[in-house]
Amino acid sequence: MDGSALSAQEKGAGAAPPAEAAAAGHHILTREELIAKVRAYHPRVKSELLGAAYDFAKKQHGEQTRDSGEAYYSHPVEVASLLADVKLDEVTIVAGLLHDVVEDVDEIDIGEIEVRFGADVAELVDGVTKLDKLDFSSKEVAQAENFQKFILATTSDIRVLLVKLADRLHNMRTLHFRKKAESRERTARETMDIYAPLARRVGLYQLAAEMEDLAFEELNPEARRAILYRQEELALENANDLERIRDDLQQLMDLAGIKCRIKGRKKAPYSLWRKLERKSISFRDVADLFAFRIIVQNTEDCYRVLGEVHTLWACIPDRFRDFISVPKPNGYQSLHTTVRASGNRRVELQIRTEAMDQTAEFGVAAHWGYKNKQYGFDIESARAAGLDPAASLEAFSGLIQDGADAKEFLEHAKLEMYREHVFTFTPKGKLIILPAGAMPLDFAYAVHSAVGDSCVGVKVNGEVKALRRPLKNGDVVEIVRGKRPAPIHGWEGLAITGRARSAMRKLVRERDTADFRRLGEGLINVALRRAGIDPVDLKMNHTARLAGFETREEMAEAVGRGKISSADVIMAAFPGYRPDPVDDPAKTKLDSKHAPLLVAGQDLTPGVTLHLGQCCCPLPGDRIMGVQVPDKGVVVHVASCPKLAEYDDKPELWVDLKWTELARTDAMAVGRIRINAANERGVLAKLCAAVAQANGNIVSIATADRRPDFIELIMEIEVEDLKRLTQILAALRSLAVVDRAVRDQEGADDQ
Ligand code: MN
Repeated sequence: MDGSALSAQEKGAGAAPPAEAAAAGHHILTREELIAKVRAYHPRVKSELLGAAYDFAKKQHGEQTRDSGEAYYSHPVEVASLLADVKLDEVTIVAGLLHDVVEDVDEIDIGEIEVRFGADVAELVDGVTKLDKLDFSSKEVAQAENFQKFILATTSDIRVLLVKLADRLHNMRTLHFRKKAESRERTARETMDIYAPLARRVGLYQLAAEMEDLAFEELNPEARRAILYRQEELALENANDLERIRDDLQQLMDLAGIKCRIKGRKKAPYSLWRKLERKSISFRDVADLFAFRIIVQNTEDCYRVLGEVHTLWACIPDRFRDFISVPKPNGYQSLHTTVRASGNRRVELQIRTEAMDQTAEFGVAAHWGYKNKQYGFDIESARAAGLDPAASLEAFSGLIQDGADAKEFLEHAKLEMYREHVFTFTPKGKLIILPAGAMPLDFAYAVHSAVGDSCVGVKVNGEVKALRRPLKNGDVVEIVRGKRPAPIHGWEGLAITGRARSAMRKLVRERDTADFRRLGEGLINVALRRAGIDPVDLKMNHTARLAGFETREEMAEAVGRGKISSADVIMAAFPGYRPDPVDDPAKTKLDSKHAPLLVAGQDLTPGVTLHLGQCCCPLPGDRIMGVQVPDKGVVVHVASCPKLAEYDDKPELWVDLKWTELARTDAMAVGRIRINAANERGVLAKLCAAVAQANGNIVSIATADRRPDFIELIMEIEVEDLKRLTQILAALRSLAVVDRAVRDQEGADDQ
């Protein structure tokens, strides 16, 4: 591979020729030249395909021109040429030629690309086109890292990224032709924040460095110029030293019999600038350092070179790194060391083999070649170069270890490091990162709790979608909001994030509080009227204070929740009043009156009267079913209740029901149990103590049967749910006097 190819090509930016001269004078690679360039490393290339793509791009871009004044097709040709520089396969080169056609030419869609150039090419072009549509105009640099992750997560084929990077590099090389300073700056910033780091992540160091330098020139030309000038100065000042140390090194290698190439390295202005920014050190400290690269024939020689150098010169502690035994995740391998050479001169050395050098410059792109007569990504070569499995290029490794062939590899080589996330956008382009599997409600709450609270629907990519559909990478999500906050029916299945779930729970609690208040007000009014008092005549806030509450709302809620009875309220207001004990409507809490708060069902008609089946006494925690009984309403039964058998042939009367959140958390219900116990002294006290200890509140006890030796009781116990009742039953069964304790559900089998 020609190491100089990517950067050493005519650098428009550096030379900055006048625009007209560039337009007229810059040579655009011809069809034949491009084919020849590819054929040089890939003799079996399908030249017809390549030629056809070249002609197609040229024809389709037609009269379009670039800001440089050049014909537009020069851009895709340059991009293809850059891809050929790193010796990529023909599908990638063809995609490079066609990468702007779909976006820029109205009449051409991806379908046509597929028909003409095949599915592989179409897929790559489609991927690049999608990346182009991303809006990075958000200036939040803090999001840059997220965008990088986003691109990696959505790029299903590493070649899409390579085409995109080549595209960006060429756009950067021609950036100075662009007229609008604002647009130049935005592109440069984006390159600095997103594309250069991405290139580095896949190991394309050289490309990354060139991108950075071009962006640096746009964003901070004075700083770059100053650094170049200082470098020049230092180089002149140090010219003799530099030559002497290079000679010393060469001599050292010759004496040791190590064959090698020694390259001088000039630090990129931008990397010097970064160091100056980061550390409070002088320019001389960072720049006054000679850097060489020693390229040898094999790994063993790398360590021999290291030994020789460390013998001759003192090694500076903490500057030695062995990336050969522990390569970087992107496959980078090299030995790094800094020594103090003669004249107290610091010398930085990178020692590596030819193959490592290729990987260091071209990263993943260094591993295209022939394998079994097929030209493509060479897994063995990548593996040999230490493209690391375990770390960030996880997906590569998985496939490499599974022994997938190259094609499979390319099809599936998703950079899956961020697989656990889904990257979505607001309509205004703000990035919202959610855990994979997140749904629109999660998105809504991630945007703002007010958005979540009032969410009634969603549009994804402009289309109305179901709330239960998990979001996908790149989705643009617009939350449809209702007038006021309200919990969404069945929200439990519509959110996975803790934030959304706890917010929804809070909303449900608030709504229930409102419902309880209404219910409590109603109960109080009914009781007052029954006692012959017109509620209008009563100062409710005063009554509330008499009953020990701050406000009437608090009192109403307490009555609604059954914490106090409406009779208590009346007694507080009229100390002499004694209500009829049987008729207190607030006495039982889980009863038909409260049922609308406690059970819910999608097919339940709002306002329908609900009854809790007396046959089975359903408790929160029971699986329940409703039956539509004409002229009565819906009767709620435990799913196992034998009564349901009567409706087996009338499925149209069945209603799916479930307990509400409220029923499961706040409500108290009455469970009925049947106990057979020894008829002995004190048995009742023992039973009552056991129930109380298990946190049950006995509402009533009735004797069903009494014999000399045994007694059968039916006990109604107030519990919050089935679980509690089960605990109480267990406590009773553990008593020596108890023979049998079961839930009383007429005819139903015990549990
Ligand atoms: Mn382009």
